[in-house]
Amino acid sequence: MSEQRASSELSDRLAAEWSSALAQIASLSADLQAMMAASESTNADDEHDPEGSTIAFERAQLVAVLDQARGRLIDLERGLALVADGSYGVCERCGSAIGAERLLARPAARTCIECARSGSSSRR
Ligand SMILES: [Zn+2]
Repeated sequence: MSEQRASSELSDRLAAEWSSALAQIASLSADLQAMMAASESTNADDEHDPEGSTIAFERAQLVAVLDQARGRLIDLERGLALVADGSYGVCERCGSAIGAERLLARPAARTCIECARSGSSSRR
């Protein structure tokens, strides 16, 4: 039995990040809904509202942040699925441990940084 499974510290961190990403998405969605409701009521009869473009810009930014948070959540969920089947933190190509820094940056990473570098040309 070799100790190749990710430390429980890492999977705890993953679970904690997952819940904070979920909370972030919930609060961003609420902000977005409030912003849309507000702009609907102010723009209803004034298409030339000078504030309109600012609101549109802010809304686009919020949507971008929300998209990013959702992508992060999906990554974290993939990581958690790997924890569940015991392959989290282990490179699927060479079987060595994936560095903690890489896992924190890319929770769904399935290959170590060396394999990711050498395999980047093979379209995976
Ligand atoms: Zn590797």
